[in-house]
Amino acid sequence: MTQLTGRFASVLAVLAILSAGWFLIMPHAGTTSAEPQQPPPPAKPPREQFAADRAGPAVAFDSARALRYLDELCKLGPRLSGSEAMKKQQDLIEKHFKALGATVEFQRFTGEQRNQKPVPMANIIITWHPDRTRRVMICSHYDTRPVADQEPERRLWHRPFASANDGTSGVAWMMELGHHIKDLQTTVGVDFVLFDGEEYVFDGHQDRYFFGSDHFAEEYQKHKPAHRYAGAVLLDLFAGKDPHFPVEQNSLFQAGALAQEIWKIAAELGVTAFVNRVGPQVQDDHLALNRAGIPAVDVIDFDYPHWHRLSDTPEQVSGASMEQVARVLTAWLQRAR
Ligand code: ZN
Repeated sequence: MTQLTGRFASVLAVLAILSAGWFLIMPHAGTTSAEPQQPPPPAKPPREQFAADRAGPAVAFDSARALRYLDELCKLGPRLSGSEAMKKQQDLIEKHFKALGATVEFQRFTGEQRNQKPVPMANIIITWHPDRTRRVMICSHYDTRPVADQEPERRLWHRPFASANDGTSGVAWMMELGHHIKDLQTTVGVDFVLFDGEEYVFDGHQDRYFFGSDHFAEEYQKHKPAHRYAGAVLLDLFAGKDPHFPVEQNSLFQAGALAQEIWKIAAELGVTAFVNRVGPQVQDDHLALNRAGIPAVDVIDFDYPHWHRLSDTPEQVSGASMEQVARVLTAWLQRAR
């Protein structure tokens, strides 16, 4: 992902805040609000009861197992698009989800970056309840970046790095959640989509981004499949220690109703990582989905300190953060209609 900075972004932030009144008036601990002090809200039923009534059962997300999956993926080494390690990762993912009863499809294409040879790329579409035509998606990229270009020392840029929370945490999270899909009370079909070519960037200023999500969105528009996506949640840099997810601006502008739904569920469940305020604007895989008519929000911690650095290792990833996001998104999956 890339982040817009500077004056343009600040102007957009102000516009977003003006158009996002509902975020500012939702009761939420720690929220900075321009509203006058409100009397305390009426007593609610206990949180567990409320959540159970509205959100279906909570799943026993095993964060220790999720972290073991993360280790296993990181041990493959950097997983650049088209590399041997990427092929190994693809095999591992296919085997894992097929064993859990999902359908696994590779959407293959060729990615051609400026000044590079074309490389084979593949999005992976992991399908649960394939018969259902109304569907939702949880997605992440699963390739890793060729250069650790946020390292202050340029001579370190070309060292291999694990990218533990940048893509890999999304894969590990889905590998764990795959054990629980059958226990969820869903009426919509669920797809996990892993995008290739999000990180296939050698020069952050000139190179093309988002090969995989662009390709996915083009195919979706071109072939008009019988199934339609009611919404999509993108996970990126979400599993660090004590993460914060303010509402990313493109998500708010382009998929406001879905953003409201997800952040409200988090507030009900007391998952405080989903912060009730408008955050920065980020270019990420959700943009292509929104262009294709799939409302998509990005759950992202813009302040993850190890982003594109050699220090983005499994030790920086928190099982508790993964579990919190699982609580919110499994509730969303069960409410989705
Ligand atoms: Zn990245």
